[in-house]
Amino acid sequence: MRRKLVAGNWKMHGALAQNEVLLNAVAAGMAQMPGADCAVCVPFPYLAQAQKQLQGSAVQWGAQDAHQLAQGAFTGEVSATMLKDFGCRYVIVGHSERRSLYGESSALVAEKFAAVQGAELIPILCVGETLEQREAGETERVVAEQLDAVTATLGVQALVKSVIAYEPVWAIGTGKTATPEQAQAVHAFIRERIAAQDATVAQEVRILYGGSVKAANAAELFAKADIDGGLIGGASLQADDFLAICKAAQN
Ligand code: PEP
Repeated sequence: MRRKLVAGNWKMHGALAQNEVLLNAVAAGMAQMPGADCAVCVPFPYLAQAQKQLQGSAVQWGAQDAHQLAQGAFTGEVSATMLKDFGCRYVIVGHSERRSLYGESSALVAEKFAAVQGAELIPILCVGETLEQREAGETERVVAEQLDAVTATLGVQALVKSVIAYEPVWAIGTGKTATPEQAQAVHAFIRERIAAQDATVAQEVRILYGGSVKAANAAELFAKADIDGGLIGGASLQADDFLAICKAAQN
């Protein structure tokens, strides 16, 4: 049975004082909820704070991106090996905001995925279609292309130590959530596509749903057979909301 995972994506939000309160509250809450995994992916400058406050707690932490190379003359960039120094467990790669705002291609995302695993961290690979693509009936084609970019270059076994997050772009930060049925259909498609290459990998890999998950809709989403938790943006910035979502993920 796959253990559920709820991962917060703080995006470019936070401040030392408010993070301290939030991280303490999440750590305290998760101490009472051993039935699911929980992580927060914080902005780079707050990794040291997350490490200091969360070490020894039930909450793991991670980053939201990493460069595809380990070091070099790349001003402003951060490598996965640096993230490893801060005790990260997870690194989000291919978030739709990075694909759309910073032009990250699926090929680049695959390189980042490999770099994260090369540093012995776990990539959270985001895939998902825009509203236009959904309305044009292209959801499966788009998701397959984003997924295949990783498996074609790294092999399906690369998914073993990874997490996939299905995040329909039209549901991110919009308050519009995919229905549990819509989400389940794409999750099942992803799992079947992986199973066509390796049934064991498909059974084991966790596939999270992301896109306006809230306390009010989390339980229904997480009850679906192929939804193994959530990647949570806005609601991860409020301890009560985030913990309520974590509670919905308890097995
Ligand atoms: C996200 O950014 O990954 C996300 C799912 O955001 P939100 O929960 O705010 O829609």
